[in-house]
Amino acid sequence: MDSVTIIGAGLSGLALALGLHLKGIRATIYESRATPLNIGGAVMISPNGLRVLDALNIYQGVKPQGYSFDRLDFKSAATGDLLETYEFGNADRYGYRALRVYRTVLINALLEEVERKGIPVVFGKRFSHVVEDTAQGVTFAFADGSTEKAGLLVGADGIHSKVRRHLYPDLEPTFIHMAGITAAVPTAQLKVPEGYHIPVTITSPQGAFVIAPQEVDGSEVLIGKQRRLLGDDNDEATKPPGWEKTLEAKQDAVRFLQQGNEQFPEIVHNATSQIDPARINIWPFYVVPRLERWASATRRVVILGDAAHAIPPSAGQGINQAFEDVYVLALLLGRLGGAGEDEKLHTDALSFWQEYRQARVDKVLDLNRQIDLRRMPSDDKLVGTGSGVLKEEFDLEWLYNADLNGVVDEWFAKQKEESQAVEN
Ligand SMILES: Cc1cc2nc3c(=O)[nH]c(=O)nc-3n(C[C@H](O)[C@H](O)[C@H](O)COP(=O)(O)OP(=O)(O)OC[C@H]3O[C@@H](n4cnc5c(N)ncnc54)[C@H](O)[C@@H]3O)c2cc1C
Repeated sequence: MDSVTIIGAGLSGLALALGLHLKGIRATIYESRATPLNIGGAVMISPNGLRVLDALNIYQGVKPQGYSFDRLDFKSAATGDLLETYEFGNADRYGYRALRVYRTVLINALLEEVERKGIPVVFGKRFSHVVEDTAQGVTFAFADGSTEKAGLLVGADGIHSKVRRHLYPDLEPTFIHMAGITAAVPTAQLKVPEGYHIPVTITSPQGAFVIAPQEVDGSEVLIGKQRRLLGDDNDEATKPPGWEKTLEAKQDAVRFLQQGNEQFPEIVHNATSQIDPARINIWPFYVVPRLERWASATRRVVILGDAAHAIPPSAGQGINQAFEDVYVLALLLGRLGGAGEDEKLHTDALSFWQEYRQARVDKVLDLNRQIDLRRMPSDDKLVGTGSGVLKEEFDLEWLYNADLNGVVDEWFAKQKEESQAVEN
């Protein structure tokens, strides 16, 4: 039984199917929705994610459909000073500029490639639970009562993952009473002053206002703020499912974006002067605790992407880390020849996969914390004074320039050495 079944045709699931196909491994994807996920909005892909998309033959197709950029500026709302810059890409240093691209563009590009390769994607089929999980394979059930078998079952089913329940039956993601409130508006409306760099995060003691260009020519921007949702009226837990998609919630979000503008410069007043409620996106933040295991004891049920690690948005690494999960797993399975006949090697490879990936996710979580800390209006993290208000640069080499192929080659070379040592 060499087949791999993937639950979820989101960015992780589709990318994994392509990665496996490149290694000659058959996969089938099951997606609960009738059509591909479209939660709207653009996402930011950094060089580590773009390298994976390039290897999957997706990057060249989506690049002309997105906005390429290198850095995000942080500015003070009160003084207009540049506080620091955060590098999202750099062709010379990391091989790629960062790309802001609509999620639908990315999903469609992946889906078209999946279909071109003849990889089966079954829409409207909701995974329910694992029936049996042995070293020989997995039997699992769908919500319609039907069952299937697979050599390896991969849960790429997002933060509310059902596959994860097999590993953590009682785990529920926690709503942290925060939401990202964003809108898309025409860039022309902002009257961006000459020489003013966007994307920018304008920080004030009350919070930060983000402006990030999208569309190929930057003719549209995403604007946004984070909102604390507390109390009966604003607590998501007391609202019916899907509340964030209602017109009422969107109109309320428009008012929220327009409030408190007196603390921000004119560009923010302009940005929020006209907002179409239909272009509002509300993103409730959930967290999942750090998980000790991303695979079952047999390593035949695996979770990845948001199902394994929900990464807060500060460093823009959610999708990028999911792409790394996918790519390293495909490389390992490719070397194992599918869902692995050699049980020990399969188990060891999957253990290595999780250790390697978890260590990088941990570093990203640490980076997130550093970014959040720096966004707080405190002078003691500044380097220098006066015009030298720029903070020390982040070292992002480890994040954007990781050699994932090299890491997997090295691991297999080590396994070979060890098994030869045992034989001798
Ligand atoms: C508004 C917003 C902006 C973001 N911006 C960025 C960004 O700029 N950069 C970045 O790196 N990250 C960003 N993220 C995070 C990023 O979207 C996630 O990390 C990423 O989507 C995770 O992909 P995934 O495939 O693991 O999960 P998902 O995208 O959640 O996909 C899971 C799929 O599984 C399907 N599914 C769920 N349950 C079942 C079931 N029982 N049976 C079958 N199918 C099922 C779902 O329908 C869905 O299609 C953003 C997130 C949001 C919400």
